[in-house]
Amino acid sequence: MAKIIIDAGHGGADGGAQGNGILEKELTLKISEYMYDLFKDLGIPVTMTRTSDETISPTERVERVLGPYGNSSDVIVISNHINAGGEGFSYHC
Ligand SMILES: [Zn+2]
Repeated sequence: MAKIIIDAGHGGADGGAQGNGILEKELTLKISEYMYDLFKDLGIPVTMTRTSDETISPTERVERVLGPYGNSSDVIVISNHINAGGEGFSYHC
């Protein structure tokens, strides 16, 4: 059965994009929590790379992506980001 890793982009000292009173790291965590609950309710194995406002180095993030279920073809990784699109948002990549 497929297993899912949900990665909430940014976190802690890394806020990501910001604009209109919205901080990317907060929105990605809320979206990730929502997705986590949905997959959980469906009985699909799922974990998150972070569940709080936490700074994660790129190396640590990779470990958290590969750690729970390994590097396998039945693992689906969803990395949530809310990149800049319209006016009022700073550019972010
Ligand atoms: Zn981002």
